[in-house]
Amino acid sequence: MSGDDLVGGDELKKRFETAFMPNYGVPPVALARGEGCTVWDADGRAYLDLIAGIAVSSLGHAHPALVEAVTAQARTIAHTSNLFLHEPEVLLAERLRALLGGEDGPAGRVFLANSGTEANECALKIAIKYGKTNGRSYLVATENGFHGRTLGALSLTGKAAIREPFGPFGHEVRFVPYGDADALKAAVDEDCAAVFLEPTQGEAGVVPPPDGYFAAAREICDATGALFVADEIQSAIGRTGTWFAFQHENARPDVITLAKGLGGGLPIGACIAFGAHGEILAKGDHGSTFGGNPVGAAAALAVLDTIDRDGLLGNAAAVGAELAAGITAVDHPLLAGVRGRGLWRGIVLTGPHAPAVEAAARDAGFLINALQPDALRLAPPLTLTAEQARAFTAALPAILDAAQSAVEAAGDSVVKEN
Ligand SMILES: *Cc1c(COP(=O)(O)O)cnc(C)c1O
Repeated sequence: MSGDDLVGGDELKKRFETAFMPNYGVPPVALARGEGCTVWDADGRAYLDLIAGIAVSSLGHAHPALVEAVTAQARTIAHTSNLFLHEPEVLLAERLRALLGGEDGPAGRVFLANSGTEANECALKIAIKYGKTNGRSYLVATENGFHGRTLGALSLTGKAAIREPFGPFGHEVRFVPYGDADALKAAVDEDCAAVFLEPTQGEAGVVPPPDGYFAAAREICDATGALFVADEIQSAIGRTGTWFAFQHENARPDVITLAKGLGGGLPIGACIAFGAHGEILAKGDHGSTFGGNPVGAAAALAVLDTIDRDGLLGNAAAVGAELAAGITAVDHPLLAGVRGRGLWRGIVLTGPHAPAVEAAARDAGFLINALQPDALRLAPPLTLTAEQARAFTAALPAILDAAQSAVEAAGDSVVKEN
């Protein structure tokens, strides 16, 4: 297929603007296809994809294992609803339980959803029911944290500008500064039903907490009896070089939520609750027509198998370290540094120029994401090679120069939100 066969990007953008609600604005590029870590736009231009659909396309694009699994499953049976069970969902739930290891803690029980926000809705229902059963009246989450856009998940999202227009929500959420274990300790008492935490704040700019924060949160929850809910929707499935980010501190949550990279591009989410917490939601308490459908489950199994078979945890750790070192080695007045772990990095700028850097990177053939005024996200496929990482870091000085010229010429533009 060549660019000539496709409707051009400019025409698609115009039609998009007319047909869709204006909640996203009009994205800058219409993507037509992808292969590995490369994507092509509707005009046939190639880009190295360093954002992977927001940390979702963990195997890259059109990976044969994913294509095979999805195609075979769609040909066999694509949907059953929760009125009937099917083998792919059972295999996936068992696989997730095994990955979350019973050996140093109680086994998990799984709920399958279609997205991250839905996985968090399940965790929130567990937390609310736990609270009502035990006389615990409030929840704790973090400032600038992101847990999704549906009303339950939104109630936990720590960005007032996106939360407050849609509140109040019917349950109390207290927000604490992220990364401050003392503030967390002060906020959580025996009336607290649950603490919701990201292991590193993703949407806030790939902001890791100080070492020991997750372990401290685990201790605080143990001491007070609050549920410890880890939102690993962005951080898990190899993103940081381990299956789950909590493994870096071995601070096991009571409930964990997954989505994004799990399906490799197919929509699926999961909420796993451990021990007795896995039985808090009783028959009739929750459900989903599409959640854990055979195609999504088959895709997730292919993702997990491929990560295992191809050593992609090790690749994420090694190539991620190389990527960070390459960025650190760049000396430029716009560049303040790099943070994060594995193939999940925030490029930090000295000023609010992330949109200009994103645009300059795009012009140079690299897709990255301005997610804060002064921070860009890199979350490439876990299959990224060292050579591809080096191609980006070699181009970075010229990208920053171009961004600086653009900022000087025109001022900065608006940051795009998830
Ligand atoms: C993306 C994200 C969500 C929401 O997931 P969706 O699939 O967009 O609904 C929730 N929590 C975190 C940490 C995320 O990164």
